[in-house]
Amino acid sequence: MFDTIHEECGVFGAFCTNEPDENIASTIYYGLYALQHRGQEGSGIVVNDDGVFSSYKDIGLVSDVFTEETLSRLPKGNIAIGHVRYSTTGGNNRINVQPIEVHHIKGSLAIAHNGNLTNAMKLREDMELTGSIFHTTSDTETIAYTIVKERLTTDSIESAVEVALHKMEGAYSLLIMSATKLIAARDKRGMRPLCYGVTDDGTYIVASESCAINAVGAKFVRDVMPGEILVFSKDGVQSITTHCNRADRALCIFEYIYFARSDSTIDNVSVHAARLKAGHFLAKSHPADADIVIGVPDSGLDAALGFAEESGIPYGIGFVKNKYIGRTFISPTQSFRENQVRIKLSPIESTVKGKRVVLVDDSIVRGTTSARIVKLLRDAGAKEVHMRISAPPFLNPCYYGTDVDTKENLIANNHSVEEIAEIIGVDSLGYLTLDDAKALADGSHCLACFNGEYPTNIPTEPAKFRFEQKLSKNK
Ligand code: SF4
Repeated sequence: MFDTIHEECGVFGAFCTNEPDENIASTIYYGLYALQHRGQEGSGIVVNDDGVFSSYKDIGLVSDVFTEETLSRLPKGNIAIGHVRYSTTGGNNRINVQPIEVHHIKGSLAIAHNGNLTNAMKLREDMELTGSIFHTTSDTETIAYTIVKERLTTDSIESAVEVALHKMEGAYSLLIMSATKLIAARDKRGMRPLCYGVTDDGTYIVASESCAINAVGAKFVRDVMPGEILVFSKDGVQSITTHCNRADRALCIFEYIYFARSDSTIDNVSVHAARLKAGHFLAKSHPADADIVIGVPDSGLDAALGFAEESGIPYGIGFVKNKYIGRTFISPTQSFRENQVRIKLSPIESTVKGKRVVLVDDSIVRGTTSARIVKLLRDAGAKEVHMRISAPPFLNPCYYGTDVDTKENLIANNHSVEEIAEIIGVDSLGYLTLDDAKALADGSHCLACFNGEYPTNIPTEPAKFRFEQKLSKNK
């Protein structure tokens, strides 16, 4: 699935316990490269060389933003953090690209975050009313000022973070870099993933996903616990647990279904294993008489394999995906835009021609992309198409850093399963049941976009709309 639901961001940081590392910016670059699937609209790196921060950030894919030349402008350093962004709140412009840096009376901070605060507008309004001036429209600046405000009355940056977290509601995984420390924090429900590892030469690595820890040759140590603050300093790793066990866990279940990379492990559950399981569940709850099972690359592939294993129907490669098209892909005309699916995905005729095909994908949002994918299969000669979705139907918006759409735009809100099947042109359609979605991984998870049970108070309107309204009023 592509062109529909997007994750907001990925964060990556490194702390060297030895001498300053000449290659610390490259380490962050490779980590961000492994997290590119979490955000393709902008990326940035801040390097800390003995308390002096140097940064580079811009709009675009990691490989576009960071060339050999731009990377070489970043110095050696002891600590560095980086970020890949997909804009949900704040819009996609240069000023909102993270990490952001703040220089205050007690020092400097750089912050990168993944997620959305549900009370960001309230926090921001309170600060604006007392004289704060904001330069961006993203939540990150609100988080930075909330921490800085506490830093004025606390004796360390970690104490400031500890106090500030009491004020922040919603979903967030944070990386905060001070002159001498790297701090990682995860919201008390653990809604967004965050984990850390260590290299053989003693560099600590913190990342949104374990795939990025592996990518830089570090060994995975563990997930940051929900509510935990980890402080990496010359003294080692300190865990602050004041905010732990204060709420039920609520990791976004869609991390397992779509957002995360299959080779990542989140909260001790393999993403690949969870997707395989979804396929097994689908084959049991929505079997089909078919000749071949194929998946929509990339996140539909694992579930398709699971469906094939459970049903005994052979698994096949049904599509080739052009992996080299980023979000910056230029679509000059409407008709060209409509052809984007054809440019990104190409069916393999020899797999599907004359066959009854089970097509597994991870979601249907508006139905337009699904209809185009189904048409590709029909054009390639598929006799029947039985679509199976490795998630329940989207019925509600997400307030936690993804762009799951407003209710009106979610096709499952306005149509029955049979009607959707007709709209997208399939012979049958089956979704993962809510109970099966809950069983993808042990423990409690957020499933709010499927069942409407939000784990936090929610804003009356999504923050992104309120920001847009506020900005347009000022025009
Ligand atoms: Fe994930 Fe949906 Fe919850 Fe958003 S509402 S955090 S997409 S499960």
